[in-house]
Amino acid sequence: MKSNPNSHSTINTANSIQGGRLIFVLYLLLVTCVSGCGPSATQTEAADKTDGAVAKLSPTRAIESIKTLCAIGPRFSGSVGMVKQQELLEKKFTELGGKIIWQPFTVRSPLDGQPVEMKNLIVQYFPERTKRVLIAAHYDTRPFPDRDPTNPRGIFVGANDGASGVALLIELAHLLNHASKNAPDSIAVGVDLVLFDGEELVYQEGRDDYFLGSIFFAREYLASPPGYTYNAGVLVDMIGDADLSLYYEENSLKYAINVTKELWKIAAELKLKEFKPKLLHAVRDDHLPLNEIAKIPTCDIIDLDYNDRIKKRLNYWHTTQDTPDKCSGDSIVKVASVVWVWIQRQKP
Ligand SMILES: [Zn+2]
Repeated sequence: MKSNPNSHSTINTANSIQGGRLIFVLYLLLVTCVSGCGPSATQTEAADKTDGAVAKLSPTRAIESIKTLCAIGPRFSGSVGMVKQQELLEKKFTELGGKIIWQPFTVRSPLDGQPVEMKNLIVQYFPERTKRVLIAAHYDTRPFPDRDPTNPRGIFVGANDGASGVALLIELAHLLNHASKNAPDSIAVGVDLVLFDGEELVYQEGRDDYFLGSIFFAREYLASPPGYTYNAGVLVDMIGDADLSLYYEENSLKYAINVTKELWKIAAELKLKEFKPKLLHAVRDDHLPLNEIAKIPTCDIIDLDYNDRIKKRLNYWHTTQDTPDKCSGDSIVKVASVVWVWIQRQKP
């Protein structure tokens, strides 16, 4: 996600998205929710009641995913770290039964005009289905922690802003892998997990463009129709904060009100108080190209309040402090649980 309530970025590469303002048949049951879950739940899992087998969302595994990704170091577009991450994710999602599609493209570096090779990663489940939904996140990290009060040119590993979305998609891949092999009729649509590159190859706010990967993806979807259509989408960004608060986002309500309301309704059914059905902010994020260019109704689930209100710490967003210790596997799993129910309720 880009920009804050006071600064405003412009996407010069996509005329159609300029302007605007800042910012679970498998019949899965949430085991801990049956016994009562809420903000204090330490273990939120999903049990597959279809065949007696169990496919679980795992807070422990989710936080380990974040730690593994952050251990690579910075993973900004075109970096050595990004290449390592791509290798890791291709291996991981292949192990998890996904069909891997790389979508390469090249941009000019905002620093020196040199080409930067980028790749969106599309992981398909039920690839033969022509009515699909997409669950997306960005997997690049910002080059520098430029909001860090003391070290704006320090090391930025993007635990929440980057790795958390990837961790959530890995959790969903575990359930999708199980469903596709054991209960294919439990889900009625095809599901694409999409990881965008170039969400924020931003060295200088106001000069450099955001959303390069999602813009490319949206334009390709129009220019070279893939033979299937996306009915709707869910974008997740910064959903790993241990202190999770998720409000309605204005652009999501504008373009994808049904998707947005359904997600928060599911969260209420699951008694996840972190989802607050109130409009708080407008966010510029990868959902804009999906909505405005590709016309795929897409909701952004995002927690902009990345700090520790109890300890009154500063905002960790775009700072050296965006590290795994500020994140929680429970947060990842709670959001993944909502998205999983939503996937299961989708009709072709
Ligand atoms: Zn960011």
